[in-house]
Amino acid sequence: MIRHTGMEVITLGVAAGPALRTEEAGISTAVVVDGAYYLVDFGLGCTRAAHTAGLRGRDLRAAFVTHLHSDHVAELSAYLLWNWGAAVDGFTSPVAIHGPSADPWTDSGAAGGTERLVGSLFDAFGYDIAIRTSDEGRPPLGGLVSAHDIRTPGDAAAARPVPVYRDDRVEVTAVLVQHPPVFPAYAFRFDTDHGSVTLSGDTAESDTLAALAEGTDLLVHEAVALDYYRDRGFGAAFLHHQERSHTSPDGAGRVAAKSGARRLVLSHLAGVAPDEYWRAAAASMFPGPVTVARSGLRFPVPARKG
Ligand SMILES: [Zn+2]
Repeated sequence: MIRHTGMEVITLGVAAGPALRTEEAGISTAVVVDGAYYLVDFGLGCTRAAHTAGLRGRDLRAAFVTHLHSDHVAELSAYLLWNWGAAVDGFTSPVAIHGPSADPWTDSGAAGGTERLVGSLFDAFGYDIAIRTSDEGRPPLGGLVSAHDIRTPGDAAAARPVPVYRDDRVEVTAVLVQHPPVFPAYAFRFDTDHGSVTLSGDTAESDTLAALAEGTDLLVHEAVALDYYRDRGFGAAFLHHQERSHTSPDGAGRVAAKSGARRLVLSHLAGVAPDEYWRAAAASMFPGPVTVARSGLRFPVPARKG
């Protein structure tokens, strides 16, 4: 069930991708505040995971996309189509989706952008959307969902946090992180009356992220088990991407320590390893509590004692 007072974070899916290496759902995180919720990323399985967690579209206020790798947006269309209209306890009020703009350094014509992605999905499912609007009396989907490209000039290394969204429950701030060659890629911080959560998105070990997460109650940070890929003979290009674009679990621990976070949750787990592999590496750098996330785990903010 959804909490009607207070705040909690639900790790709906924790797997990196696009790959099916474990039973975990793809990366997606819900931030629940006083009976409403906000989603960050739409990995494979997030629609079912959100439903199982008790989240219904009618309580969705806004959504955020960290970057446009497919494992973060693959289920965006399904989530919207499965949570739209009163017939499915879906949203009937406006929902905003904030995410990266097109890559300004790419002029290939495939540069992307969140506004373009959402518009393209509505085009692709235009037949279904039109039929359900006229035949089932659902509200026009295009009029309910608005997509917004986040504008952040400058490069990731010198990035400053920018305000992205606010309502009566949350204030959301983004900062560019380092996930080359993907650009832009963001981390998000949610501040509420109850506390704060910071979500790393996909990033190499990042001081700008540590600054964004200063004093945060909960830091949800990605991690990669490089040993998993090395031991299985993955190719040089694949390993190179993992090394320069993601963070080791001890690196996540260092970022948590630098930021003064109260608690570290490891999610977006790339590679397969026992919980203790992830936890011990992070805990070697961070003195606070460390949890290895699983799909559907709930984290009250601030954490209850015990
Ligand atoms: Zn990525």
